[in-house]
Amino acid sequence: MTKNHYEIIICGAGMIGLTFALLMAEKKIKVCIIDKNNKKLLFAQQDSRTTAISQGSHRIFRKLGIWEKLKNEFQPINQIFVSEGLGSLDLNFDYKNLKEGPLGFIVDNKLIKKTLLNEVSKSKYISFKYDTEIIDINNEDIDNSFIETKNLNLYFKMLVAADGRFSRTRYHANIKYYYHDYQQTAFVFNISHSKKHHGVALERFFPTGPLAILPVHNSKINQSSIVWTIDTILANDEVFKENFKEEFKKKYDNFFGKLISLSEVKKYPLNVFSCYDIFKKNIVLIGDACQAIHPIAGQGFNLGLRDAFILAETLSKSKELGLEPFNLNLMKSYENMRKLDKTLLVNATHNLNGLFSGSGKFKSLFRKTGLRIFSQSSFLKNQSMLFAMGLRNLEA
Ligand SMILES: Cc1cc2nc3c(=O)[nH]c(=O)nc-3n(C[C@H](O)[C@H](O)[C@H](O)COP(=O)(O)OP(=O)(O)OC[C@H]3O[C@@H](n4cnc5c(N)ncnc54)[C@H](O)[C@@H]3O)c2cc1C
Repeated sequence: MTKNHYEIIICGAGMIGLTFALLMAEKKIKVCIIDKNNKKLLFAQQDSRTTAISQGSHRIFRKLGIWEKLKNEFQPINQIFVSEGLGSLDLNFDYKNLKEGPLGFIVDNKLIKKTLLNEVSKSKYISFKYDTEIIDINNEDIDNSFIETKNLNLYFKMLVAADGRFSRTRYHANIKYYYHDYQQTAFVFNISHSKKHHGVALERFFPTGPLAILPVHNSKINQSSIVWTIDTILANDEVFKENFKEEFKKKYDNFFGKLISLSEVKKYPLNVFSCYDIFKKNIVLIGDACQAIHPIAGQGFNLGLRDAFILAETLSKSKELGLEPFNLNLMKSYENMRKLDKTLLVNATHNLNGLFSGSGKFKSLFRKTGLRIFSQSSFLKNQSMLFAMGLRNLEA
């Protein structure tokens, strides 16, 4: 292949694009990854979020040798408590009820991205083009498809779009999607508190939106990561903004003892994008580019990682059979394998948010009754735990 001709180009070096590149490298398949950011910006990640990594995703990372590189800086989740407002802890998921290890792991996004970028930089199967943004895509002729960028044209046989929620690749490929603005804002920050968290995560549902308190690994202080979702009207209210800390304190209610400090707060407007097609001709979407969901269940990354994993398996099969990377039958089989998992999670998170946000006596009664029924059924609890842990195989 000449310099600007690649079998597979990945657009987007986020957590999904980078992991996909490593999955391909593990199968000794060469790829080129491009990102609109320059190298310095990519390595100096500003993402202050943490990600709840499921058992299933952790197993993929372990297979790639990424997990060991996180150097024990992850926090296992041993228990998850769920409550309606400040009420009693209506639902309790405990890892001891299953024999699969912790329910998940909380890891700092900066650490994940840095580790993935380091591994990608070392791989002889991956070439990286920084500071490279798609201007246009021409794939009318599958055998002569190319991306137009500021400086050059990059030719590909398959283009994997991992360029996130506002994917430009999706736009150029003219792939249609469902979109809904939740009119909610997620406030993300860290807190330190007086008591140890013992690996406990808490999700409290309020009419104005859910509050998630997630345990963080820190050998020096007792720390948790917060994702606090609020209706955008309230989030923009001046009085609320002024009293942010006091309002948070009311919702936190000393769950892990006295609140000691609160870090800088970052805001994320919440919406859902869900594509009607997973691929179009030789362009395939993975991760948030294909479906970006509400963070209520902390599953967006885990879902995207399953896209990356199954696509890598599919492309490896293409290679074994001596086929071109883009093969319609194999892509259809990839689509069938991913459809159920995606549809289920997009709908589940959408409906869960609808049910657990908003006020009204009926809704509140429904929530309380639902939580109670759920808590009394060990079958329901175990099945949903396995699903959230990414250990329920939903491929067709
Ligand atoms: C508040 C919040 C909390 C969350 N918590 C969790 C959680 O606990 N667990 C979980 O599983 N998920 C969680 N998620 C979801 C998770 O963060 C995303 O699903 C995941 O980060 C998506 O990764 P990605 O690589 O697909 O996209 P992105 O992270 O958006 O990466 C896209 C990459 O593409 C590049 N790019 C964009 N446009 C172009 C272009 N035109 N040309 C070239 N490059 C381009 C960008 O520079 C970037 O590097 C959360 C989301 C939010 C908002």
